[in-house]
Amino acid sequence: MKKLLLVVLAAAVFSCGDDKKNAKTDMKSTPAMEEKAAPEEPMADSNVAVIVIEGNDQMKYNKSEIRVKAGQTVKLTLKHVGKMKKMVMGHNWVLLQQDADIAAVGKAGAIAGANDYIPTDMSDQIIAHTKMLGGGESDTIEFEAPAPGTYTFMCTFPAHYALMQGTLIVE
Ligand code: ZN
Repeated sequence: MKKLLLVVLAAAVFSCGDDKKNAKTDMKSTPAMEEKAAPEEPMADSNVAVIVIEGNDQMKYNKSEIRVKAGQTVKLTLKHVGKMKKMVMGHNWVLLQQDADIAAVGKAGAIAGANDYIPTDMSDQIIAHTKMLGGGESDTIEFEAPAPGTYTFMCTFPAHYALMQGTLIVE
């Protein structure tokens, strides 16, 4: 726990200097390609579960539980609503298999910076994932809801999964 706190403090201190600069460019620099990645679809389609989840600069998701139905296509958008850069407060959304070792994926993800913090040798434990986002960014993914049950989702940025995890319940 002490180590985690230190990392958090270091990240907070490190990011302070960047914050002001970022604030000016955030509005303009939202890439147009993100708009294209999230085309509008009719909400009435019961075969599609449209989910929006946010991550913030306080290292938190705004949802700890997501419910979908078996057989649905899950269209999930992760929005980083903070201002911090990806390298200090990156967030992704990674859905794990039911038997996955959460701590092991968290550890391996933390040192997989070269692969966007997704541990490549653990792809059998990962059902779906977004890309790693910095403040102001978003990413939308689509995947088939897995078999009924309870699954863990988490952020694989170093030291984040302790605070950033929740459950996806497939009914
Ligand atoms: Zn995160």
